Amino acid sequence: MKCPVCRATYRATNVGGQKPAIGEESPSPDFTPTPLNCRRCGVDLTPLIHLHDQAVWHHRQAIQAFQAGDYSAAIAQNNQALALHAHQADFHALAGQLWALQGDFAQAIAAWKIAHDLNPQHLTTTTYLQHLEAIASSANHPI
Ligand SMILES: [Zn+2]
Repeated sequence: MKCPVCRATYRATNVGGQKPAIGEESPSPDFTPTPLNCRRCGVDLTPLIHLHDQAVWHHRQAIQAFQAGDYSAAIAQNNQALALHAHQADFHALAGQLWALQGDFAQAIAAWKIAHDLNPQHLTTTTYLQHLEAIASSANHPI
């Protein structure tokens, strides 16, 4: 997550770029990260973080609906997540899965390409993309 004002990368832990000491990586469940202001320019990042949390909540609802087989609910929830926070590879990856399940491989590939651009290390997306591009190219050239 980046500061919208100065583009500094915001991290709740790891203040000052130092690696957290052993034993400090896992805060207790009720731990609330206190520094909600940008370390560089001091802007209040609370609304941004709130928006991000909301987007993640919608994404989780989408995954639950997806696992329950309710694809239309999953799509609606994931669209909410994407509307709030469009730069999350996981959201686009799930969108791609949902498109593919509905047989819309062009949309699925488009979504996974966005996910892959946002996070080239997103392994699931890379695998899906390779499979789907193979399927799509064989569909374009029937035997
Ligand atoms: Zn800033």
